[in-house]
Amino acid sequence: MMHGTDDAKAILQRLGVPATVFASGDLPARSPINGQVIGHLRADTAEEAKVKIGRAAYAFKEWRLIPAPRRGEFVRLLGEELRAAKTDLGMLVTLEAGKIVSEGLGEVQEMIDICDYAVGLSRQLFGLTIATERPSHRMMETWHPLGVCGVISAFNFPVAVWSWNAALAFVCGDPVVWKPSEKTMLTALAVQALVKRAADKFGGVPDGLHEVLIGGRDLGELLVDDHRVPVVSATGSTAMGRHVGPKLASRFARAILELGGNNAAIVAPSADLDLALRGIAFAAMGTAGQRCTTLRRLFVHESVYDTLVPRLRKVYGSVKIGDPRENGVLVGPLIDKGAYEGMVRALDEARAAGATITGGERQNIGGADAYYVSPALVEVKAHDGPVKRETFAPILYVMRYSKFEDAIAMQNDVGAGLSSSLFTLDMREAETFVSVAGSDCGIANVNIGPSGAEIGGAFGGEKETGGGREAGSDAWKAYMRRATNTINYGTTLPLAQGVSFDIAE
Ligand code: NAD
Repeated sequence: MMHGTDDAKAILQRLGVPATVFASGDLPARSPINGQVIGHLRADTAEEAKVKIGRAAYAFKEWRLIPAPRRGEFVRLLGEELRAAKTDLGMLVTLEAGKIVSEGLGEVQEMIDICDYAVGLSRQLFGLTIATERPSHRMMETWHPLGVCGVISAFNFPVAVWSWNAALAFVCGDPVVWKPSEKTMLTALAVQALVKRAADKFGGVPDGLHEVLIGGRDLGELLVDDHRVPVVSATGSTAMGRHVGPKLASRFARAILELGGNNAAIVAPSADLDLALRGIAFAAMGTAGQRCTTLRRLFVHESVYDTLVPRLRKVYGSVKIGDPRENGVLVGPLIDKGAYEGMVRALDEARAAGATITGGERQNIGGADAYYVSPALVEVKAHDGPVKRETFAPILYVMRYSKFEDAIAMQNDVGAGLSSSLFTLDMREAETFVSVAGSDCGIANVNIGPSGAEIGGAFGGEKETGGGREAGSDAWKAYMRRATNTINYGTTLPLAQGVSFDIAE
């Protein structure tokens, strides 16, 4: 088992980050495992940040001209670096974000997966050829690189979310300027070092293709306001999106918003309860309830409630909480004191409204500056109060339902629209759930929980989740601009819609 300060520094050094970058400076990087400072960084000034954005804007002029499959080769090399660094980078995610080891490694695997995906995509950035009404004409659409892509990321997926954006942006011909969470800056520096290794192997990558802004929210704001950045992908709370969205709109920049979730699962009378139990446990307690797709609301049919919920209570009572580096631990720490206080507030509110709570207590692990909690199973009487908002902690609100339509209506009756799931063996219910009359979320699953997406699908949600899509399917189109081209290879100039415009000479 590894411990403390030296390990983060040793990992950073192995990954090629110069010690000068993380060993001095007045910005502390802390580990939620024990609250200890594991690095010191220096924040970029606003002037330095602007210079970095300028470098990226300059890099665009060159990078956009490199053929897309060649750009794909760069991303292939990046994937190779990530493969080689998987153990180290995964452990750094564990140290900095507090994820259990398999989830830290899983996050890096997701980066590798999206690199592989982007390499293939680099040969598939195609548009349509469209029938024209004019003789001897051809109409087609061409996808061009868009420009600098700003990426603002949250603490809870400190590196994977960057890769969903960056791997696509790079093959699409866009440089990236990344403002990582102020809570997870070491992993960002590690990724920057791996990008540099891939760039050195590729040769000829323009200076400024990838820039990292180290600092707080002010640098995120600066990135959002900069006219040289035509697309910003911002991942974080809905509160953040409320600031970022209108600002981008006001300068007509493109926004890919990936905001909060308040995800639900419905357990129907026919559900396979063994499977549902496993799905619920992972989705609600995994990552200590700190995934955007974490299961937060559970609607259980009254006919199975008294079978399933006691089993769930037992699982909640037996799950191992502790140092995420230890074998067998499933629930690591909350990110910080603020997260813990948010959890206490929500539980107090639920208790005052008559809820029955199993778990939710602070655990004596990791010292005074670490915040470990037992996951809370909260049986509520009404779909109201704290149930209807996202608290970024392991709280699962459980309630009964009797009619399937009511369960769907309650599930949709929140601001967020990220992820949802249904456990059923009834084909009519399953199809209804994924139909237009079912879940209103960007992700709707059957017989798996709402969390744990893979990169092949487009990831994102509706309503207050922001409407953005990242990763697979046609998400790449947000990083490019579309031109419709009409080419006349004839000798006359017929006008569309039969318009005549005969000039005399
Ligand atoms: P946060 O909103 O506090 O911060 C996210 C990022 O936004 C940080 O880098 C922060 O510096 C930056 N930021 C904050 N205010 C800003 C502003 N006004 N202008 C520009 N940048 C600003 O979120 P967090 O606590 O790090 O992460 C947890 C939240 O993120 C949860 O709500 C979770 O659901 C959400 N999340 C969503 C997704 C998704 O894909 N939908 C994925 C991961 C996390």
